[in-house]
Amino acid sequence: QKSPGKKDYPKFPSECCANKKFTRSVEYKTTGYKLSPDRKKIEFKDGFKAGVFELWTSRDLVWYSEQQISRVRVVRRADGYYCQFLVNVERKETHNFEGNVVGIDLGLNAFYTDSDGNAVNNPKYLRRSEKRLKKLQRRVSRRHEKGKKPQSNNYHKARIQLARHHLKISRQRKDHGVKTARALTQSHDLVVYEDLKVSNLVKNHHLAKSISDASWYQFTQWLEYYAKLHGIVCIAVLPHFTSQNCSNCGQTVKKSLSVRTHKCPHCGYVADRDHNAAKNILAKGLEILGAIVNSTEGHSESGGDPFAEHSEGKATGEPDLWRA
Ligand SMILES: [Zn+2]
Repeated sequence: QKSPGKKDYPKFPSECCANKKFTRSVEYKTTGYKLSPDRKKIEFKDGFKAGVFELWTSRDLVWYSEQQISRVRVVRRADGYYCQFLVNVERKETHNFEGNVVGIDLGLNAFYTDSDGNAVNNPKYLRRSEKRLKKLQRRVSRRHEKGKKPQSNNYHKARIQLARHHLKISRQRKDHGVKTARALTQSHDLVVYEDLKVSNLVKNHHLAKSISDASWYQFTQWLEYYAKLHGIVCIAVLPHFTSQNCSNCGQTVKKSLSVRTHKCPHCGYVADRDHNAAKNILAKGLEILGAIVNSTEGHSESGGDPFAEHSEGKATGEPDLWRA
């Protein structure tokens, strides 16, 4: 029997499904579960598993009223069960507008290079974790015997180890992405990045690994999230010619991916390839911003607008990419 207000999600499959994904979830709206008064335990009536479960929380649920909790989801991961609470709270950060604008080039060498020439590298622990991932992947395939049913215990042990390590890496990547995105939005009033069509790039096998490893897409999602939280402008621009054009004179300087330094034969400007690209990305973003501000009818002047000096009134931007 279904209880009203509960979504009809599939039940967890049995533990032996080796080929299925590890993540499964059951979702509740307002019924089907009950929190203890001290919010340290949760009781499920059906769906997940009837019974009382202890909650090990990272944030104290005591601060939220029952009305604020609009959804509860039980998720199975490689290392156990997780209970997620969707809590309705207004989150807003105060932002000090200081006129700092930045363009970032998401790269293969550094995680990103900004328009001031600073490079933020992938953390060492992530690179170490990725080495271990390869090792564990090899172990799993070594222990797999084709056509054998059931597979050996050693195979299953290795498989579970690999799944747990995948989980660890995805948490490390997320952690790094969140921290980096938050730091960028805290210290800038405008962030411009390349709208990389990751799905297109992943088809290129040479680039595929680095791209998925760097988790750019996830990072840009966090960037958008924190930009909204801080009330700043975040713009995605098309990546066309950002690495080929000279950020100083605008001329095209063709170079292959292996050429790491931009040397302009037209104006003599020399810069790191990614630094030059980041400057072009910032310029593109400012151009879009200028076009949008000038095309908005009846917008009022606001004192101390940090972008005002950059608005050049060009109507050739890409306003469909506006994502403030
Ligand atoms: Zn030049």
